[in-house]
This record gives sequence, structure tokens and C-alpha cells, in this order.
Amino acid sequence: MKMELESIILPGVDSQRPIVIAGPCSAETEEQVLETARGLAAKGVKIFRAGIWKPRTKPGGFEGIGAEGLAWLKKVKEETGMYVSTEVATKDHVFEALKAGVDILWVGARTTVNPFAVQEIADALKGVDIPVLVKNPVNPDLELWIGAFERLYNAGIRRLGAIHRGFSSYDKKIYRNLPLWHIPIELRRRLPELPIFCDPSHIGGRRELIASLSQQAMDLSFDGLIVESHCDPDCAWSDASQQITPDVLDYVMNLLVIRDAVQTTENLSELRRQIDQVDEQVLELLAKRMRISKEIGIYKKEHNMPILQSPRYSEILEKRSKMGEQMELSPEFVKEILQEIHEESVRQQMIIMNE
Ligand code: PEP
Ligand code: MN
Repeated sequence: MKMELESIILPGVDSQRPIVIAGPCSAETEEQVLETARGLAAKGVKIFRAGIWKPRTKPGGFEGIGAEGLAWLKKVKEETGMYVSTEVATKDHVFEALKAGVDILWVGARTTVNPFAVQEIADALKGVDIPVLVKNPVNPDLELWIGAFERLYNAGIRRLGAIHRGFSSYDKKIYRNLPLWHIPIELRRRLPELPIFCDPSHIGGRRELIASLSQQAMDLSFDGLIVESHCDPDCAWSDASQQITPDVLDYVMNLLVIRDAVQTTENLSELRRQIDQVDEQVLELLAKRMRISKEIGIYKKEHNMPILQSPRYSEILEKRSKMGEQMELSPEFVKEILQEIHEESVRQQMIIMNE
């Protein structure tokens, strides 16, 4: 679906990268909201975030202060001049937030997964002109993410933006949510006009990771960052381990290196020509490999052999990973490529078997 989007940059907000949205995970008390907002405003942050309704994984956690907190956001606007943003998950949230003069809405990861919920929000926004940011769904499903933009677009919303907050995984190692950067990169390719924010707080789950994730996002040409910032992070009622004070936020933002050069030097274009050639060779070799594998398929069919020969496949994986390592390719990378190639070989041989 072709979308003609309008800029989400509000008057008075610098359009230079990164556009920064910051504020606590949750609005807890009026004092906490205002103190954090004052700290952020003093550092030049122009857009404040705070969760009013919190989708928690389990009941019993802090589920948000609710509509009462909207009055505090109003105070933030009046006192600091910042724009304010919050998460909406139902039509009632939308109505309440609009009534309170919230400037930017976002759809949370647990809502984007559900087309019914997204449609309800889209319907509630018909005829309203407000920027809406959509977090990626918790599962790595780009089409579902794009579907949410389409629903909002069809409801007349033209100021859209994406927030990459990483993807849930069973196997949590370094990150709370796996970044899977190729997904927002593919989103950029599919919807080039759509601004993309990175949420290093939720990807990392730990405050130490915010700086490096933010830098990575900048190096991947993301437009903005949405960072959780709290006046007293350790005492936060939700997501305490991933929040930073306004001072630390300012420090981290000042360390970012923004590489904005678009001009390609002669050197770069020469290197790109080399890459083009290598890619062509890679494709030719892949095609050759598939031709051989189809011949094997014909042989297997004639001799009544099953397609999948597990010992052979394991041997390939093992030998090639070792070979790759000697060539300074990471074993995971080699394994992934071989798995993809093997899958395609199997698919081709299936066609032959069923001919
Ligand atoms: C949040 O922004 O506080 C939040 C709940 O995030 P997510 O929807 O990404 O989990
Ligand atoms: Mn949070």
C-alpha cells in the first residue's frame, strides 16, 4: 500500500537527528512527573513521554496511574512548554488522552500484535490530526507492524512514526528484547518516508546498554530516540533497571556521533563497484550450486532415496563452519547461510520429486 506521509516534526522541535523523546516509563506521582520533566526541559528535551496506562506482563505490577496522571502531563506542558506523549491501547485511552491535550500518541508493542486493538484505536482517531508512533509488535513480524500503519493511515492519520523496541525472545542473554536490526532496516526499505525511533531502554533492559544501542541506531540512520528517564531511576515503579536521570541522558546524548554525510567519495564508489561484482559472483555460484543440487534430486528420485540425508547435512554444517572460521567468518553467520541454502536445495529437490 502506498502511503503519503506528513512530517511528525512539531513546531519548535529541531529536525536534526536524533529527535529525542524522553521521560519516565510510568507517571507515578505529580512530583515525580514534574521533577523529571523539569530536569529534561533544562537539558533541551522537547518531547516528554510517560506511561499513564501500563500493560504489565503479570497482574499485580504497577498498572499505571490512569487518567488522573493526564492532569500532570498538562502541567508539564504549561510549565516547561514540552510536548507530551503517552501510550494508548484502547479507544477510551485515545479519548481521554485527546481530551487532556496529549500531543503525540504511541501504540505499545503488546497492542501492535493485535489487529482488533489497533483497529479500535484507528477508528477512535478518525478525523483527528495527531502524530502517532507505533512500536513494533513483540514478535518479529514486519507485516503485522506495517499492517498497523496501514490501519492508522486508512483512518486518516498522516503523521506516523515507528518505534523499534526490540523483540521478545525466550532466550534472554545480553538484551531484554533482541534488536534484530534487519527488521527496522527492512521497514525503512518498505516505507522510506516513515521516521524511525529507537527505544534503547526497552531493547537493552539495562541502563548500561543505552549509549551503545543509541549509537547503533544513529549509525543505521534512525531519525530519533525514545529513552526512559526518571528523576530517581532506582526507585521507579516500573522498569527501574533501564531508566536514567535527565543528567545522564544529556551526557549520553552528547556522546553520540552523528554521521550524516550523504556524499559518496570516489573511494567509496570504487569499493561499492567491487561489492557489486562480488555479489554477482556469489549469485552465480549459488545458481550453480542449485543446478548441481537439482541433479542430485533427479538421482535421488531415480533411486528412490529420501531428499533429506541428515548425516550429510550435519557434515556440511560442521565442515563449512570450521572452514568459515578460518576465513574470519563467524560460525553463526556461516551456519545461518548454509541453513538457508540447504532449505532452498530441499525445496528445489521437492519440486523434482513431485514432478
Ligand atoms: C513503554 O514504553 O513503557 C512500554 C510499555 O514499552 P513496550 O510497549 O515497548 O513494551
Ligand atoms: Mn517501560
